[in-house]
Amino acid sequence: MKRLIATAMVVVMTMLLMAGCGKSTDSETATDSTTQAGTETGTTTESTEESLEGSLLSAEPKTFSIFLNFNNMPFDSEWEVWQEIAKRTNVSLEGVVSKTNANEEEAFNLMLSSGDLADVIGYRNASDLEKLGRDGGLIALNDLIDEHAPNIKALLESDPKFRQWATSLDGNIYYIPKNQTLLSAEFYWVRQDWLDALGLEVPTTVDELYTVLTAFRNEDPNGNGQKDEIPLFDRAGHNMPDEYLYLFDSSTEFYARNGVMEFEPLEDNFVYGVKELAKWYKEGLIDPEIFTRGAKTRDTLYSANQGGFTHDWPSTGNYNRSLAEEIPGFNNVAIAPMKDQNGNIVERTTRYPAPGWGISSQCEDPVTLIKFFDFFFSEEGSDLINWGIEGKTYVVDDAGNKTYTDEVLGNTEQTPLGYLRSLGVQYRIGMNQDPDYEYAFMTPEAQAAAELYNGHPEWYRDDVPPYLGSDLNLKYTEEDEAEYKRIMSQIRPYVDEMFQKWILGASNIEDDYATFVQELKDRNIDRAIEINQKAMDTFFKNKQ
Ligand code: CA
Repeated sequence: MKRLIATAMVVVMTMLLMAGCGKSTDSETATDSTTQAGTETGTTTESTEESLEGSLLSAEPKTFSIFLNFNNMPFDSEWEVWQEIAKRTNVSLEGVVSKTNANEEEAFNLMLSSGDLADVIGYRNASDLEKLGRDGGLIALNDLIDEHAPNIKALLESDPKFRQWATSLDGNIYYIPKNQTLLSAEFYWVRQDWLDALGLEVPTTVDELYTVLTAFRNEDPNGNGQKDEIPLFDRAGHNMPDEYLYLFDSSTEFYARNGVMEFEPLEDNFVYGVKELAKWYKEGLIDPEIFTRGAKTRDTLYSANQGGFTHDWPSTGNYNRSLAEEIPGFNNVAIAPMKDQNGNIVERTTRYPAPGWGISSQCEDPVTLIKFFDFFFSEEGSDLINWGIEGKTYVVDDAGNKTYTDEVLGNTEQTPLGYLRSLGVQYRIGMNQDPDYEYAFMTPEAQAAAELYNGHPEWYRDDVPPYLGSDLNLKYTEEDEAEYKRIMSQIRPYVDEMFQKWILGASNIEDDYATFVQELKDRNIDRAIEINQKAMDTFFKNKQ
């Protein structure tokens, strides 16, 4: 009797299966139908699932081609963690980007012009991936996610930032983002040992900062008897020259307040901030070479014991270790953003999801691939891509806390992150970045900084779109983007040129300002603001 029922159930299940096969011939739709229709039929469940134990996504090994080149690291199927992933899922990827390729953009364009698309495509630029989707090169993943990717679906529902980033202007999801869960990006760093040497307190307002920088300049905090200190410096001064306008709640870019898009050079804070920074520069509080010193600035000025204050990433805390012998007492600490002239505390730089990967229209088995994508949002897949291989790169204690092993932390050849990446860990794929992974190899100073900034969500505004670099990162329609770029190509160089002139004292903002504003109007700034307003409205619509 039991056997008869079981047989009958198999027939029913087979029919259910066939009914569910309109969209796919993949045998795994069986699992979904079985759980819905046959909760009491243990035997049947086993018979349809017996070939897919553990994390297997396919009964037979399957290989998909992948286009991805992250930081000049083309995807390499030999990477240890990806070998492990293949073993567990029965799905492996084969990179199509040549191992020697050092130009992601060139390789991407080459693939597109060849017409021969890899099954999986990852790229650094969200709008290029979305364009490829609208042009039919990537498939819309919405239905596939609904049916086969419960983990991704749950995150799309619970995380508005992730959803916004994943959703294209046409409402389709063309790629799964690399999600960032940490809020903070850059911190204000000050030399605590210099403050101590001069008997000063940590500055809490922009005016107090001026006092501190002035003392750094004039009172020999490094104690060598020379007036060689460079109070304020930045290694990104050559490409983000306006970063210190943030202190005055301004920039040379777009920003939004109360839902209204502004071009900040047209606003009062800008005039105030530029006048202040010009004064600071004239008084020697700012690196005289801030616009030109370049990416090595931080190394150079800390090693020479000359740098005092900057706005930079957590790695700035590492110098306390690396310079401990050379500069006894060297002590950099992250401090809270200071109150601006209007009494507000805001940290503008934040983290946002990066583009991850999508499925090309030439892929013959998108169902298995979306399940593979979903695997990285499961606990097992997430641990593999965030932490690597348990017992080798990390261990878990009784309380469930993960720590990296000496193989990662004590590696003398590479930084912990560099070593992890050499195994394929933390690659730029659709995943949820575990914040603990980063904490796990931060120095105590960096950890304290990250905890300070992440502990104050009120410093971050959630009514502005992603602020990356010094730019709002909005998505545009194709026509709007072309027009916007055309207008801004006339405006950006002009603003940068004038800003530098004012800071360096070659000209004076008060004398020039009326002409400057008129010039921006003549170059059609109002239309650019309008385009950004529209793009921002779409952003908040997708975020809801
Ligand atoms: Ca000195």
